[in-house]
Amino acid sequence: MSRETLGLSADLLAYVHKVGMREDEDLRRLREETASHPMAQMQISPEQGQFMTLLLELIGARKTFEVGTFTGYSAMCMAKAMGPAGRIVALDVSEEYTSIARRHWAKAGVSQQIDLRLKPAAESLAAMVAAGEEGTYDFVFIDADKTGYDTYYEYALKLLRAGGLIAIDNVLWSGRVADAAEKSDDTVALRNLNAKIVADQRITMCLVPVGDGLTLARKR
Ligand code: CA
Repeated sequence: MSRETLGLSADLLAYVHKVGMREDEDLRRLREETASHPMAQMQISPEQGQFMTLLLELIGARKTFEVGTFTGYSAMCMAKAMGPAGRIVALDVSEEYTSIARRHWAKAGVSQQIDLRLKPAAESLAAMVAAGEEGTYDFVFIDADKTGYDTYYEYALKLLRAGGLIAIDNVLWSGRVADAAEKSDDTVALRNLNAKIVADQRITMCLVPVGDGLTLARKR
């Protein structure tokens, strides 16, 4: 352990990928197709997908949801981590992005594990609560519109079981959260949520500086 977190140079990141990555063919194909997409930066990094895989194994997750599916890399990681008994509710609004996801999920044999719901996430989450699903989920991944994060976080706390885990992506927002001159709606939303979570006694938390910053919050 060190007292400081190391910034990764391009060389060191390449080394991490070389010696630390177990990405399989299905995930690699999906990542490579997404890399040519104009919104490719919305895809999680492969090391982050691998980290989520380990977390799901550690907590023995069987039932998860994600807010923000994009081209389906994180959902595919979750499906593979949990095995055929694992279930994922995938929330998104884009038919275009998720059509890429569905094609790759089918090829990887994980489609039957993933229930994709295309409508504003807050509506889908309200429907899950109304259906009596409070306290039944093991894991939640939040990676969508940043101004919606606080709403998704509150729904996640409702829908998770005690001991369940929330992972929230992009909490460092390329460093903009630490720049007082940055006042965009997205930056302010993330800054406010970060301040709220560190003080939130409903959870145990850690802001992990992997990728663009990933906050883990375990429901007490
Ligand atoms: Ca993200």
